[in-house]
Amino acid sequence: MLILGGGLIGLALAHELARQGRTATVLSRRRSEAAGFVAAGMLAPHAEGLQGTLLALGQASLARIPAWVARIESDSGVACGLRICGIVVPFVNAAERDAYPTAALGEPLDRSGLEREIPAIGPSWRAGLLFPQDGQIDNRRRLMRALERACVHRGVRFEEGCEVLGLVTDRDGGTVATTPQPLLGARDGREPIDAPSAQLTAVRLRRADGQELTLPCREAVLCGGAWSARLLHGLPVFPVKGQMLSLQGPIGALSRVVFGPGTYLVPREDGLLVVGATSEPEAGFGEGLTPAGQRQLQAGIEALLPAAASWPPMERWWGFRPCTPDQAPLLGEGPIAGLWLATGHHRNGVLLAAISAELVAQALLGQDRGDGLLRAFHWSRFS
Ligand SMILES: Cc1cc2nc3c(=O)[nH]c(=O)nc-3n(C[C@H](O)[C@H](O)[C@H](O)COP(=O)(O)OP(=O)(O)OC[C@H]3O[C@@H](n4cnc5c(N)ncnc54)[C@H](O)[C@@H]3O)c2cc1C
Repeated sequence: MLILGGGLIGLALAHELARQGRTATVLSRRRSEAAGFVAAGMLAPHAEGLQGTLLALGQASLARIPAWVARIESDSGVACGLRICGIVVPFVNAAERDAYPTAALGEPLDRSGLEREIPAIGPSWRAGLLFPQDGQIDNRRRLMRALERACVHRGVRFEEGCEVLGLVTDRDGGTVATTPQPLLGARDGREPIDAPSAQLTAVRLRRADGQELTLPCREAVLCGGAWSARLLHGLPVFPVKGQMLSLQGPIGALSRVVFGPGTYLVPREDGLLVVGATSEPEAGFGEGLTPAGQRQLQAGIEALLPAAASWPPMERWWGFRPCTPDQAPLLGEGPIAGLWLATGHHRNGVLLAAISAELVAQALLGQDRGDGLLRAFHWSRFS
């Protein structure tokens, strides 16, 4: 099976397929641009206030994560830094807290409860919700590397520096069906999708040494993250840029994740505090940090945990979330026969990797249990 894109979702799927005895080849343009290396690693279906089928998908994934991580750790020998440490969402008053979409699934906190959970929390927060069932994983330093090693252990083939240029179908008479598109900015899902009658016959690719070739294949999975619509014109996936930074704090200064409006603080075990994130759909694929984005994060730190504003900054980075119009992923069969989709995970791809890999692998291997979860995330909901 060809996996188009070697980010978090492509790796998770390749690992799952290989575990089930299926050969998998991952074509990856640039490992370092994957949002899997950018994310804060929150596992937060409740703290993020997800609703409906997306909440159900997130909860199903959260339940699978301990066993999923154990398999990756066993195959790779790398500890992934999974901690179900609980996440606190602070509010300026109790009315806002009680109106939060997942309020009924958390423990309500008053100001003294907030101070108990987050001893140095800023003075403007008067209420909160504690979600002890949510947590975090160290995706940037550990999980991505562990997944790569676990894939190698299971015999997955990698081709790094290999760009997929286009998909070839039996309707194209052997020419490229869709070519990489120039930047079009945000899409709204109303644009045309290729008709589902065509069958995938090949992918066009350019290897790191510049060689271009057409690789025959009748099945592939599109795991191209924020860039997915460049390969399948009209797919409703667009980039939402996010800027991040990290601070080095004292070990144990914060035991819970703090998920504030516009800024969150994710304490790793070694005292590194990962701070996120801006949300900039207007930036398109514009690269780099901006002073305004970094100022926003700094203001968020000062409001949530004033003491942390003086901790030394260690790193600053950015990346692109693969967003869809309803902010939920596209999973399962795609609009071209033989082309499967595992993309569009927006701000919850780390959380959703375990269930996405499981559901798409099941469908690919003809083991779909038909419980409806996969169907709810079919691309045709936008057609
Ligand atoms: C700032 C930020 C914070 C986030 N925080 C969280 C969080 O706390 N919790 C959470 O659950 N999620 C979080 N996310 C979301 C999560 O990172 C993404 O949903 C997830 O990484 C998406 O995985 P993916 O494999 O689809 O895309 P990516 O990880 O981006 O991988 C896509 C890969 O496809 C490759 N590719 C693209 N086009 C081609 C091509 N034509 N040929 C070959 N290769 C190609 C790219 O090179 C890239 O490596 C965050 C994201 C961002 C940006």
